[in-house]
Amino acid sequence: MRKKGRLIVVSNRLPVTLSYEDGKWRGKPASGGLVSALNPVLKNRGGFWAGWPGTGKGAGLSHIREILGPLSEESGYRLLPVMLTEVDVEAFYHGFSNSVLWPLFHDLQSRCVFSPAFWEGYLKSNGKFARVVAKHAGENDFVWVNDYQLIPLGEMLKKRRSGLRSSFFLHIPFPSVDVFMKMPWRKEILSQMTHYSFMCFQTGRDRRNFLDCLRVFFPDTAVSGRGHILRVKVEDRSFFLGSLPISIDFQAYSSLGSSRSVVSRAKTIREEVPGKQFVLGVDRLDYSKGIPEKLRGFQRCLERFPDLREMISLHQIVVPSRESVDQYQALKEEIELLISRINGRYSTTRWVPVNWHYGSVSREELAAIYRAADIALVTSLKDGMNLVCKEYCACKGKEPGVLILSEFAGAALQLAKGAVLVNPYDTDGVAEAIYRAFSMAEKEKRDRMRFLRKSIARQNVFWWVDNFLRAAAGKKLEEFPEQAIPSLWPGIITQAGKEK
Ligand code: UDP
Repeated sequence: MRKKGRLIVVSNRLPVTLSYEDGKWRGKPASGGLVSALNPVLKNRGGFWAGWPGTGKGAGLSHIREILGPLSEESGYRLLPVMLTEVDVEAFYHGFSNSVLWPLFHDLQSRCVFSPAFWEGYLKSNGKFARVVAKHAGENDFVWVNDYQLIPLGEMLKKRRSGLRSSFFLHIPFPSVDVFMKMPWRKEILSQMTHYSFMCFQTGRDRRNFLDCLRVFFPDTAVSGRGHILRVKVEDRSFFLGSLPISIDFQAYSSLGSSRSVVSRAKTIREEVPGKQFVLGVDRLDYSKGIPEKLRGFQRCLERFPDLREMISLHQIVVPSRESVDQYQALKEEIELLISRINGRYSTTRWVPVNWHYGSVSREELAAIYRAADIALVTSLKDGMNLVCKEYCACKGKEPGVLILSEFAGAALQLAKGAVLVNPYDTDGVAEAIYRAFSMAEKEKRDRMRFLRKSIARQNVFWWVDNFLRAAAGKKLEEFPEQAIPSLWPGIITQAGKEK
């Protein structure tokens, strides 16, 4: 009898947060949508998650294994480290992943650095991922590769283990042909994407762009089927192609948003708000998030609609990210400058128009801020999905709230009916949307929010995992067999410090 396969997840980073304190590396499990969605699929089912542990210099493999051994037992699945050197991280992660693919796939090609050394480093590091996964995967295992850092992995795995099936999910957008064409390694990247048995994007728009590119570079591309999953044939390869929007654990956010402590904290936040209503922005520090565009839209709103002055304020949370990169520092300075200009121009003795917090907030505090906010404003210039807007709706409960959402966020395709859509480059359009949200009748707010919540509750993150697994492996979660975690994992250092 053939042994039933396990699930193997591969992502650039392992789902752990490591820190160096008092001369020692420590680790704790990371939280977040992807981790909570994949936990039930991996937990006690004998599979593993492979990725870079995210450590810089000084943390050797033995150190890392000492941390990951106990964390693996806690998680119920094995955490398998792919060790990268600092040179690897520079070319693979900061270089090709974040200075070529990230800006290009977000339509910002002028920010790309097309260095051949980055490309070489990208392939070399993917080779390291392939070695680790191929070494530990079983014959019937099913490999789920995540995101733009690991596009070549499927083909590399095939070369090492011809029988291993792997599928891929792209969490970021896929650009149109004109943008994609700019990349010197366009045909190689595209070809690598055709080596998975299932290739999946966030939205139909991304999938369409991918197909357009395939037809340009591989004119013999043949597509059959219709609906969410298509069948594609390119040269001698055929694969399934889909689009599935990633989401959140709606129920968890909804319960958190309605919990007594969060409701009480939301009330306090509201009482402290200067003005009658407040607009909320929550974004990682990234040029794709359109934070300066949001500030310009808000400023324009105060300029064009003077009746909103002292009546509305903007609270912007900016979560630090890639701080060591010059472009991100410059973005932070631009944001600071714009905020001080708005506040310098419009503040009164009892009202400051823009408050901002540069740093992370706890999940509970974030839920309270979501709950308190009258309007959520998302102005991404391009976004794979955008989970903040879904979390906002989940936490709002039955409270009325308005979601203003960039039409360039993946979520806009799913939430178009309930959200007020904006083009973030259209400063007047953003200003008008804020005014419209501020003046919207209570009934319309409630109707829109009801629609948004219903849609997010239905297509939640478990729906996403379930559909991905069905399309990729032809299996439901229950069909991945329950297995006790072997107490001593091969290759993982035990608490006693011995490699087994
Ligand atoms: N978030 C966080 N810490 C914070 C504020 C937000 O971890 O202080 C989370 C937020 O809850 C959301 C994620 O960051 O789950 C942002 O996801 P999104 O898809 O909106 O954007 P990304 O940053 O992944 O591009």
